[in-house]
Amino acid sequence: TEELIRKADKLAVVGQLAAGVAHEIRNPLTALKGFVQLLAEDRQNGRYCDIMLSELNRINRIIDELLLAAKPSLPTFERKNVSDILSDVLSLMSTQCVIKNINVSPLIHQQVPAIHCDANQMKQVFLNVLKNAVEAVPVGGEIQVSVLLQDVDHVMIRIADNGPGIPEDRLPKLGEPFYTNKDTGTGLGLMVSYRIVETHRGSMKIQSHEGTGTTVDIVLPIEQERSQMAVSLFS
Ligand code: ADP
Ligand code: MG
Repeated sequence: TEELIRKADKLAVVGQLAAGVAHEIRNPLTALKGFVQLLAEDRQNGRYCDIMLSELNRINRIIDELLLAAKPSLPTFERKNVSDILSDVLSLMSTQCVIKNINVSPLIHQQVPAIHCDANQMKQVFLNVLKNAVEAVPVGGEIQVSVLLQDVDHVMIRIADNGPGIPEDRLPKLGEPFYTNKDTGTGLGLMVSYRIVETHRGSMKIQSHEGTGTTVDIVLPIEQERSQMAVSLFS
Protein backbone atom coordinates (compact mmCIF):
# COMPACT_ATOMS: atom_id res chain seq x y z
CA THR A 1 0.00 0.00 0.00
CA GLU A 2 2.80 2.39 0.87
CA GLU A 3 4.30 1.75 -2.55
CA LEU A 4 0.94 2.49 -4.20
CA ILE A 5 0.51 5.72 -2.26
CA ARG A 6 4.01 6.79 -3.18
CA LYS A 7 3.26 6.18 -6.87
CA ALA A 8 -0.09 8.00 -6.65
CA ASP A 9 1.56 11.01 -5.00
CA LYS A 10 4.15 11.16 -7.72
CA LEU A 11 1.44 11.01 -10.38
CA ALA A 12 -0.48 13.89 -8.79
CA VAL A 13 2.64 16.04 -8.63
CA VAL A 14 3.61 15.23 -12.19
CA GLY A 15 0.08 15.98 -13.35
CA GLN A 16 -0.03 19.42 -11.76
CA LEU A 17 3.41 20.51 -12.83
CA ALA A 18 3.50 18.99 -16.26
CA ALA A 19 0.95 21.10 -18.09
CA GLY A 20 2.35 24.41 -16.80
CA VAL A 21 5.98 23.58 -17.34
CA ALA A 22 5.38 22.02 -20.73
CA HIS A 23 3.60 25.12 -22.00
CA GLU A 24 6.32 27.41 -20.69
CA ILE A 25 9.05 25.37 -22.34
CA ARG A 26 7.38 24.94 -25.69
CA ASN A 27 7.76 28.49 -27.04
CA PRO A 28 11.45 29.08 -26.29
CA LEU A 29 12.09 25.61 -27.64
CA THR A 30 10.47 26.42 -30.95
CA ALA A 31 12.65 29.53 -31.21
CA LEU A 32 15.79 27.55 -30.34
CA LYS A 33 15.00 24.94 -32.94
CA GLY A 34 14.56 27.59 -35.61
CA PHE A 35 17.94 29.16 -34.89
CA VAL A 36 19.72 25.82 -34.80
CA GLN A 37 18.20 25.02 -38.18
CA LEU A 38 19.57 28.32 -39.47
CA LEU A 39 23.02 27.58 -38.04
CA ALA A 40 22.94 24.15 -39.67
CA GLU A 41 22.94 25.82 -43.08
CA ASP A 42 26.57 26.68 -42.42
CA ARG A 43 28.17 23.30 -43.25
CA GLN A 44 31.00 23.81 -40.73
CA ASN A 45 28.56 23.54 -37.86
CA GLY A 46 26.52 20.76 -39.42
CA ARG A 47 27.52 17.90 -37.16
CA TYR A 48 26.98 19.79 -33.90
CA CYS A 49 23.71 21.18 -35.18
CA ASP A 50 22.46 17.69 -36.01
CA ILE A 51 23.16 16.62 -32.43
CA MET A 52 21.44 19.73 -31.09
CA LEU A 53 18.42 19.17 -33.32
CA SER A 54 18.03 15.55 -32.30
CA GLU A 55 18.25 16.54 -28.63
CA LEU A 56 15.69 19.31 -29.18
CA ASN A 57 13.40 16.79 -30.85
CA ARG A 58 13.80 14.54 -27.84
CA ILE A 59 12.73 17.36 -25.53
CA ASN A 60 9.75 18.02 -27.80
CA ARG A 61 8.69 14.37 -27.61
CA ILE A 62 8.84 14.44 -23.82
CA ILE A 63 6.78 17.62 -23.70
CA ASP A 64 4.17 16.22 -26.07
CA GLU A 65 3.74 13.13 -23.92
CA LEU A 66 3.66 15.17 -20.72
CA LEU A 67 0.94 17.43 -22.10
CA LEU A 68 -1.02 14.39 -23.21
CA ALA A 69 -0.63 12.82 -19.78
CA ALA A 70 -1.61 15.97 -17.91
CA LYS A 71 -4.53 16.92 -20.12
CA PRO A 72 -7.34 17.49 -17.65
CA SER A 73 -10.02 16.24 -20.03
CA LEU A 74 -12.60 13.97 -18.45
CA PRO A 75 -12.96 10.67 -20.26
CA THR A 76 -16.10 10.26 -22.34
CA PHE A 77 -17.34 6.74 -21.85
CA GLU A 78 -19.15 4.80 -24.52
CA ARG A 79 -20.02 1.21 -25.28
CA LYS A 80 -17.20 -0.20 -27.33
CA ASN A 81 -15.90 -3.49 -28.68
CA VAL A 82 -12.31 -4.17 -27.55
CA SER A 83 -11.54 -6.04 -30.75
CA ASP A 84 -12.41 -2.96 -32.82
CA ILE A 85 -10.07 -0.75 -30.80
CA LEU A 86 -7.32 -3.36 -31.03
CA SER A 87 -7.57 -3.74 -34.79
CA ASP A 88 -7.24 0.05 -35.14
CA VAL A 89 -4.11 -0.05 -33.02
CA LEU A 90 -2.71 -3.04 -34.89
CA SER A 91 -3.08 -1.26 -38.20
CA LEU A 92 -1.38 1.84 -36.76
CA MET A 93 1.63 -0.32 -35.88
CA SER A 94 1.60 -2.50 -39.00
CA THR A 95 4.28 -0.52 -40.88
CA GLN A 96 6.76 -0.82 -38.01
CA CYS A 97 5.97 -4.53 -37.76
CA VAL A 98 6.63 -5.06 -41.47
CA ILE A 99 9.90 -3.11 -41.27
CA LYS A 100 11.11 -5.29 -38.36
CA ASN A 101 9.60 -8.44 -39.87
CA ILE A 102 7.61 -9.01 -36.70
CA ASN A 103 4.95 -11.67 -36.69
CA VAL A 104 1.84 -10.41 -34.89
CA SER A 105 -0.77 -13.05 -34.26
CA PRO A 106 -4.07 -11.67 -33.06
CA LEU A 107 -6.30 -14.22 -31.33
CA ILE A 108 -9.45 -12.23 -30.97
CA HIS A 109 -12.37 -14.09 -29.56
CA GLN A 110 -15.42 -12.90 -31.50
CA GLN A 111 -17.89 -13.31 -28.65
CA VAL A 112 -16.20 -10.95 -26.20
CA PRO A 113 -18.82 -8.52 -24.85
CA ALA A 114 -18.45 -4.76 -25.16
CA ILE A 115 -16.74 -2.64 -22.51
CA HIS A 116 -17.59 0.80 -21.21
CA CYS A 117 -14.62 2.99 -22.05
CA ASP A 118 -13.16 6.13 -23.53
CA ALA A 119 -12.10 4.66 -26.87
CA ASN A 120 -9.30 7.17 -27.46
CA GLN A 121 -7.75 6.57 -24.06
CA MET A 122 -8.01 2.80 -24.46
CA LYS A 123 -6.40 3.11 -27.88
CA GLN A 124 -3.54 4.97 -26.22
CA VAL A 125 -3.06 2.18 -23.66
CA PHE A 126 -2.95 -0.59 -26.28
CA LEU A 127 -0.70 1.53 -28.48
CA ASN A 128 1.77 2.20 -25.64
CA VAL A 129 1.97 -1.47 -24.70
CA LEU A 130 2.15 -2.74 -28.26
CA LYS A 131 4.79 -0.13 -29.11
CA ASN A 132 6.92 -1.33 -26.20
CA ALA A 133 6.61 -4.91 -27.50
CA VAL A 134 7.55 -3.85 -31.04
CA GLU A 135 10.54 -1.92 -29.70
CA ALA A 136 11.62 -4.84 -27.50
CA VAL A 137 11.59 -7.74 -29.92
CA PRO A 138 14.48 -8.46 -32.27
CA VAL A 139 14.06 -8.51 -36.05
CA GLY A 140 11.80 -11.45 -36.86
CA GLY A 141 10.32 -11.39 -33.36
CA GLU A 142 6.87 -12.54 -32.30
CA ILE A 143 4.04 -10.67 -30.65
CA GLN A 144 0.82 -12.34 -29.65
CA VAL A 145 -2.27 -10.24 -29.00
CA SER A 146 -5.24 -12.01 -27.49
CA VAL A 147 -8.61 -10.98 -26.15
CA LEU A 148 -10.46 -13.36 -23.92
CA LEU A 149 -13.19 -13.57 -21.36
CA GLN A 150 -11.50 -13.53 -17.96
CA ASP A 151 -14.68 -14.23 -16.00
CA VAL A 152 -18.37 -13.30 -16.26
CA ASP A 153 -17.70 -9.60 -15.89
CA HIS A 154 -14.14 -9.02 -17.12
CA VAL A 155 -12.27 -9.18 -20.41
CA MET A 156 -8.54 -9.67 -20.60
CA ILE A 157 -6.32 -8.24 -23.31
CA ARG A 158 -2.95 -9.96 -23.35
CA ILE A 159 0.01 -8.63 -25.31
CA ALA A 160 2.95 -11.01 -25.17
CA ASP A 161 6.32 -10.66 -26.85
CA ASN A 162 9.43 -12.80 -27.14
CA GLY A 163 11.82 -9.90 -26.56
CA PRO A 164 14.69 -9.80 -24.06
CA GLY A 165 12.38 -9.47 -21.06
CA ILE A 166 12.86 -7.26 -18.02
CA PRO A 167 15.23 -8.05 -15.15
CA GLU A 168 13.37 -8.76 -11.91
CA ASP A 169 14.86 -5.80 -10.03
CA ARG A 170 13.55 -3.41 -12.71
CA LEU A 171 9.95 -4.64 -12.61
CA PRO A 172 8.87 -2.41 -9.68
CA LYS A 173 10.15 0.64 -11.54
CA LEU A 174 7.80 0.18 -14.51
CA GLY A 175 5.16 2.91 -14.55
CA GLU A 176 7.25 5.38 -12.61
CA PRO A 177 7.36 8.71 -14.41
CA PHE A 178 10.43 9.07 -16.66
CA TYR A 179 11.65 5.54 -16.06
CA THR A 180 13.14 4.43 -19.37
CA ASN A 181 15.95 2.28 -20.69
CA LYS A 182 15.74 3.58 -24.24
CA ASP A 183 17.81 6.25 -25.98
CA THR A 184 14.70 7.83 -27.47
CA GLY A 185 12.31 6.83 -24.69
CA THR A 186 10.31 9.16 -22.45
CA GLY A 187 9.40 6.75 -19.67
CA LEU A 188 5.82 7.99 -19.69
CA GLY A 189 4.01 5.34 -21.74
CA LEU A 190 3.40 2.89 -18.91
CA MET A 191 2.63 5.60 -16.36
CA VAL A 192 -0.10 7.00 -18.60
CA SER A 193 -1.40 3.51 -19.35
CA TYR A 194 -1.62 2.51 -15.68
CA ARG A 195 -3.54 5.69 -14.96
CA ILE A 196 -6.03 5.24 -17.81
CA VAL A 197 -6.66 1.61 -16.90
CA GLU A 198 -7.26 2.66 -13.29
CA THR A 199 -9.86 5.27 -14.27
CA HIS A 200 -11.61 2.44 -16.14
CA ARG A 201 -11.64 0.38 -12.95
CA GLY A 202 -9.39 -2.18 -14.57
CA SER A 203 -5.93 -3.49 -13.86
CA MET A 204 -2.68 -3.94 -15.73
CA LYS A 205 -0.06 -6.51 -14.83
CA ILE A 206 3.35 -7.03 -16.35
CA GLN A 207 5.04 -10.39 -16.15
CA SER A 208 8.51 -10.79 -17.52
CA HIS A 209 11.46 -13.14 -17.49
CA GLU A 210 14.87 -12.26 -18.77
CA GLY A 211 15.51 -14.15 -21.96
CA THR A 212 11.95 -15.35 -22.60
CA GLY A 213 9.90 -12.21 -23.05
CA THR A 214 7.24 -10.01 -21.55
CA THR A 215 3.50 -10.44 -21.09
CA VAL A 216 1.19 -7.53 -20.31
CA ASP A 217 -2.32 -8.39 -19.10
CA ILE A 218 -4.96 -5.68 -19.11
CA VAL A 219 -8.19 -6.63 -17.39
CA LEU A 220 -11.26 -4.45 -17.94
CA PRO A 221 -14.81 -4.69 -16.65
CA ILE A 222 -17.50 -5.64 -19.16
CA GLU A 223 -20.32 -3.18 -19.65
CA GLN A 224 -23.35 -4.39 -17.77
CA GLU A 225 -26.61 -4.22 -19.68
CA ARG A 226 -28.68 -1.26 -18.58
CA SER A 227 -31.68 -3.48 -17.99
CA GLN A 228 -29.58 -5.74 -15.79
CA MET A 229 -28.38 -2.72 -13.81
CA ALA A 230 -31.94 -1.54 -13.33
CA VAL A 231 -32.95 -4.97 -12.10
CA SER A 232 -30.15 -5.12 -9.59
CA LEU A 233 -31.07 -1.68 -8.30
CA PHE A 234 -34.52 -2.90 -7.33
CA SER A 235 -33.64 -6.34 -6.10
P1 ADP B 1 9.55 4.15 -22.85
O1 ADP B 1 8.96 3.17 -23.83
O2 ADP B 1 9.50 5.56 -23.36
O3 ADP B 1 10.91 3.76 -22.38
P2 ADP B 1 7.55 3.10 -21.07
O4 ADP B 1 6.88 3.64 -19.87
O5 ADP B 1 6.65 2.71 -22.22
O6 ADP B 1 8.61 4.17 -21.54
O7 ADP B 1 8.41 1.84 -20.66
C1 ADP B 1 9.35 1.95 -19.62
C2 ADP B 1 10.45 0.88 -19.71
O8 ADP B 1 9.87 -0.41 -19.47
C3 ADP B 1 11.08 0.74 -21.07
O9 ADP B 1 12.13 1.68 -21.26
C4 ADP B 1 11.60 -0.68 -21.05
O10 ADP B 1 12.85 -0.75 -20.38
C5 ADP B 1 10.59 -1.40 -20.18
N1 ADP B 1 9.64 -2.18 -21.00
C6 ADP B 1 8.34 -1.90 -21.20
N2 ADP B 1 7.76 -2.82 -21.98
C7 ADP B 1 8.71 -3.74 -22.30
C8 ADP B 1 8.75 -4.95 -23.08
N3 ADP B 1 7.66 -5.41 -23.72
N4 ADP B 1 9.92 -5.62 -23.12
C9 ADP B 1 11.02 -5.19 -22.48
N5 ADP B 1 11.05 -4.05 -21.74
C10 ADP B 1 9.93 -3.33 -21.65
MG1 MG C 1 6.94 3.04 -24.32
